[in-house]
Amino acid sequence: MRYDVVVCGAGPAGMCCALFLAKGGRKVLLLEKGKFPRDKVCADNKTWKCLDIVKELGLWKEFEKLPKKEIRGMLSASPSGHQITTPLLPSDVAQKGTWYNVRRLLFDDMLASACRKSANIEFLENNEVLGPVLEGETVVGARFYSSKRKGEVRQAFAKVVVGADGSQSAIAKELGVGPVLKGRFAMNARAYYKGVAGAKDLCELYYLKGICPGYFWIFPVDGGMCNVGIGMRVEDLERQGISLQGKMDGIISSEKFSGRFARAKKVSETREWGVSVLPGKRKWSGNGFVLVGDAGTFAMTFSGEGVGPGMRSGKVAAHAILRAFARNDFSARSLSDFDDSMWEILRPEVEGFKWLEFLILHERVFDWVWRRAAGKKELIELSSKMQNDYSASREFVSLRTLLRLLF
Ligand SMILES: Cc1cc2nc3c(=O)[nH]c(=O)nc-3n(C[C@H](O)[C@H](O)[C@H](O)COP(=O)(O)OP(=O)(O)OC[C@H]3O[C@@H](n4cnc5c(N)ncnc54)[C@H](O)[C@@H]3O)c2cc1C
Repeated sequence: MRYDVVVCGAGPAGMCCALFLAKGGRKVLLLEKGKFPRDKVCADNKTWKCLDIVKELGLWKEFEKLPKKEIRGMLSASPSGHQITTPLLPSDVAQKGTWYNVRRLLFDDMLASACRKSANIEFLENNEVLGPVLEGETVVGARFYSSKRKGEVRQAFAKVVVGADGSQSAIAKELGVGPVLKGRFAMNARAYYKGVAGAKDLCELYYLKGICPGYFWIFPVDGGMCNVGIGMRVEDLERQGISLQGKMDGIISSEKFSGRFARAKKVSETREWGVSVLPGKRKWSGNGFVLVGDAGTFAMTFSGEGVGPGMRSGKVAAHAILRAFARNDFSARSLSDFDDSMWEILRPEVEGFKWLEFLILHERVFDWVWRRAAGKKELIELSSKMQNDYSASREFVSLRTLLRLLF
């Protein structure tokens, strides 16, 4: 089996990469271990980072048909309960529209349909990737269980292999750049509830005592349902000797939340999944390979947002690979183009948000800042601005902001 590119994993990052490569005229094999429509443990929020790429892919009409919930801002609460509501700026909404919460079951299936329709993509579901095929230090293909051949192990060869197989990536692990990062890997539990009181058009994040830098969330989705969940660093879970599901049930039945869940009905099982958040620039490519999405740890610190950054990495990888084809050079040097382009995009957010990382690790400082900021219109406007312009976060760590907080 010979292709231009083998993409391993059909999540948003891998499918986006495959679609852009196909548009660029390349023959792509897309390998996926699951079968669509399939669920993915996620909080289902889609910001402009994701929606802009849906538009670029020409899928906006399909997206509009999906059942979804319009989102107009975030509510975040500090450990002692000081709440800040950060609405999307009207000027941003006028230009880009609102955000949406769309269940991954539906969103990923929309992308999968687009991949199936593409003449340049051979899409094999129920085919689990085992790892890369190496010739010396160069990746020349992927090994996978073939569902057609009753689980026989097969190899597919290509000039470039894209590791898009998520936060437990078999490709990344075998290449020594595994995505499970100490201190940055969080386990998450998620369930859908119907009839949660008070859920509006906001994504609600609660940084509760003892779970920071993780949080408990309530995100409204379609059909009167809410995506409800909790994420905590594995170290904190182990230290506290608790189960994630037990912690989540405890929060739902606590004094603070029991009223909102009094009439709510759980309409799904609770499912768990882990993801690491991006620490800074990492190695994302090498001889004959590129890592995108969670396989490359592209989920953002603080928010945990990974769909938009993952799709962006898929698009940027596709363009870097198309340039590599134009040069007929698939070496680490040629593909490092991808690493540089991604870091240029992500750097303002990663570096600008370092102070938020500090904040969520120090509960008392977090409380103080949230208590002071809650009543300051200018600061709320600044945090709204940060939802579209990440470099604005630098303003938050300025002397000017400190003075605004104090007086
Ligand atoms: C609980 C939770 C809540 C989150 N909430 C949000 C949110 O609200 N908004 C947001 O933007 N981000 C959120 N994220 C992050 C987001 O889910 C991920 O960053 C995003 O899914 C990354 O996309 P991906 O394509 O890289 O990986 P995935 O979506 O994980 O897709 C990987 C694909 O590869 C397949 N695969 C895996 N292993 C193999 C294999 N060996 N062979 C073949 N196929 C394989 C999988 O079946 C899957 O289809 C959340 C994450 C978690 C865990």
